[in-house]
Amino acid sequence: MLDISEETRRRGEEACDRLSEVFRKFDKNAQVCTERVLEAFRSNRVSEAMFAGSTGYGYDDLGRAALERIYAEVFGCEAGLVRIGFANGTHAIACALFAACDPGRTLVSAVGAPYDTMLGVIGVGDEKPRGSLAYYGVGYREIPATADGLPDVGAIVDAAKAPDVGAVLIQRSRGYSGRKSLSAAQITELYRAIKAANPNVNVVVDNCYGEFVDEREPEGDLLAGSLIKNPGGGLAPTGGYVVGKQELVDRAAERLTVPGIGGEVGATLGQSRLLFQGFFLAPTVVASALKTAAFAAELMRAEGIHTDPLPDADRHDIIQSLDFGDPKKLCAFCEGIQAGSPVDSYVTPEPWDMPGYDCPVIMAAGAFNNGASIELSCDAPMRPPYRAYMQGGLTFESGKLGVLLALDRYLKA
Ligand SMILES: *Cc1c(COP(=O)(O)O)cnc(C)c1O
Repeated sequence: MLDISEETRRRGEEACDRLSEVFRKFDKNAQVCTERVLEAFRSNRVSEAMFAGSTGYGYDDLGRAALERIYAEVFGCEAGLVRIGFANGTHAIACALFAACDPGRTLVSAVGAPYDTMLGVIGVGDEKPRGSLAYYGVGYREIPATADGLPDVGAIVDAAKAPDVGAVLIQRSRGYSGRKSLSAAQITELYRAIKAANPNVNVVVDNCYGEFVDEREPEGDLLAGSLIKNPGGGLAPTGGYVVGKQELVDRAAERLTVPGIGGEVGATLGQSRLLFQGFFLAPTVVASALKTAAFAAELMRAEGIHTDPLPDADRHDIIQSLDFGDPKKLCAFCEGIQAGSPVDSYVTPEPWDMPGYDCPVIMAAGAFNNGASIELSCDAPMRPPYRAYMQGGLTFESGKLGVLLALDRYLKA
């Protein structure tokens, strides 16, 4: 048996009882999303031959093409690019932005600053780093979120009307900011308002952490994300995706590989089955991650910890923030998450000076795929309010145990 006290186990069972309605909502959502995925597998006649994959250039890879059609169908788009050649989500979103915004035009970030790793891609600041959008002559403007953490729709639409604007970036997840995550419906509404104001603007949605959290995916001209988050279902070993308008997806493919060849190449190296199978499991895995997040919120709120979102709130991504207000308690919680991981459970996470951060960061992650945050993980910058961001959980049963271990360590600290 895991080292979890009887009292903590009892609290866990009570929390589950209180959350039964919330969990039912996540299950219903997974049911709706699974039906859409299964329908796409059927209509694209998925067969074992598609899993064989390709080597070398990767021309005429049946499975790759079918999976890209499936992604496009599930996301309600014309075309898809689903590749292990994307190193991460940042790479996929970068290709989407280069596809969406020509030199001499301006990119508008719709809801405040984008995710940290996108700053270098865009070239925010005066330096215009080589290779960034700024280096190639793409301007940049940011519309801050409102005081309530919501998109400032009027200001965004006004900004999109400017003749120099080439693209608008909408980030679905709050990422590591204090604002609210956007629902698919909110993004679709914003997309339509922007297109009505200026049909020449391309809207790019950073869809990371949001896939399958809502019954429908948001509308956009391009959507992009990481395969070691939601849509990889915990099985995809690496990669990213871009879906959207055919012409724009083709341009993103030419950015990923080379102009003139684009998506025609890209060997799948025997990974195709994992990408298919992961996408098939993804709605259920996302439901597990959502349950794990709500469970942690319910337990920690009872300890007086500020949680965002609240346990029973509508969720639009899989991230749960917990404000510990104290470095020792924060570290104890992270140690518990690490101890509850299937991989590297025996190591103790320590805060370290991670490149790109202005203070030490602690990270708990014991994942089958390195850095996969659809697997249970928790990270926090070591500064007030000592806020941990927890996400993932391949199964609710294991996520629950990880959170119970974390609560136990927290109570002892
Ligand atoms: C994870 C994430 C990204 C991309 O990050 P990678 O670590 O490169 O996969 C971008 N935007 C958001 C909101 C994210 O959560």
